[in-house]
Amino acid sequence: MAASICVVGGGVVGMMSAVNIAESLPSADVTVLADAFTPDTTSDVAAGFCFPHCLGDTPGHLVRVCSRWFGETVDHLLSVYKSPAAADAGVSMLTGYLMSATTDTLNVAGRERTFGLRPMSAAELRVCGKTGGSGITFTTLLAEGGRLLPWLMDTFKATGGQLVRRKIMSLSELYDEFDVLVNCTGIGANQLVRDETVQPVRGQLIMVSRHRHRHRHRHRHRQRHRHASQTAINHVTLGGTEQEGNWNLSPVETDRERIWEGCVRLVPSLKGARVIADRVGLRPCRPTVRLERETGVQQGTTTPQIVHNYGHGGAGVSLSWGCALDTVQLVKDCVHDISCWRQT
Ligand SMILES: Cc1cc2nc3c(=O)[nH]c(=O)nc-3n(C[C@H](O)[C@H](O)[C@H](O)COP(=O)(O)OP(=O)(O)OC[C@H]3O[C@@H](n4cnc5c(N)ncnc54)[C@H](O)[C@@H]3O)c2cc1C
Repeated sequence: MAASICVVGGGVVGMMSAVNIAESLPSADVTVLADAFTPDTTSDVAAGFCFPHCLGDTPGHLVRVCSRWFGETVDHLLSVYKSPAAADAGVSMLTGYLMSATTDTLNVAGRERTFGLRPMSAAELRVCGKTGGSGITFTTLLAEGGRLLPWLMDTFKATGGQLVRRKIMSLSELYDEFDVLVNCTGIGANQLVRDETVQPVRGQLIMVSRHRHRHRHRHRHRQRHRHASQTAINHVTLGGTEQEGNWNLSPVETDRERIWEGCVRLVPSLKGARVIADRVGLRPCRPTVRLERETGVQQGTTTPQIVHNYGHGGAGVSLSWGCALDTVQLVKDCVHDISCWRQT
């Protein structure tokens, strides 16, 4: 009997996992269940700039794991970038200028997976409006959620996968329907599995029409305010906020004014840009990513098989494919155990 697998969550972490599971276990029935799909997920708000950051208190040995996930994601996105699907998938390359940063700002192994990382020259700092201080520049992959997610959904559907829009209050609602559950609910895990270590770090952004700006510019202020402007294929993203513990999904006018003023100071030619949308997303921050198998408590004749993959903070795009590869291995272990039980 084919195993039935349900990925709960239709953001970048859930869709990358679902595509990977469907391609690695072609005989399984795979469903993605979520109360929101693109364009209404946190992943749609993500700037999609690939480098590992905002990973909480990830301890030393896990930093190496995060670096592997990052490297695997970079390799995968590079293969998409070099394929005819790149434009549809929203995958491109972007050069970033990060003011007030040093090369030590980037996680050591992650650093090796960027292209051309070096300190900014005095001339580059002047062009970015700085008369002193430091900065770094490097090129990396950009994966825009608003394009990546529809492409992943099409890729998933082409494997025969099902998409179901539904909100659940507990994973136990699905125990009778599926053999294996994969929990990719991002910030939703706070309520769904009562994991209070997942907390929001609120990010507000302004999207403006594409103009001559072609890079990512970022400046971090002493007060932890960070302004960044970044080009995507059809728009420029202006950011942003990093407000810990803030669950507000509505744009706040004072945040908007501060973002606008900060970004125009950084790139004055943005002043005339046309605003397309104000967006807010809640980064699912956790001391570490939760990627593990849990064998739930037996319910009648069923022992629920659950794989958790959530809590990627501000790096969900950057880690998504690497985490999906580990998720598939755990799902395969579940399917193997289930088939052994069925034979006994
Ligand atoms: C402003 C901003 C900028 C960012 N920039 C970057 C960046 O440059 N690079 C980067 O790598 N990352 C970036 N991030 C982080 C990135 O967006 C997140 O890490 C990533 O989106 C998390 O993906 P996810 O799939 O886990 O969560 P989500 O995208 O939130 O998806 C969760 C899914 O679970 C579903 N769900 C939740 N609870 C339930 C429930 N009870 N029942 C049914 N369905 C449920 C939701 O409907 C949704 O489909 C940024 C985030 C923000 C806010």
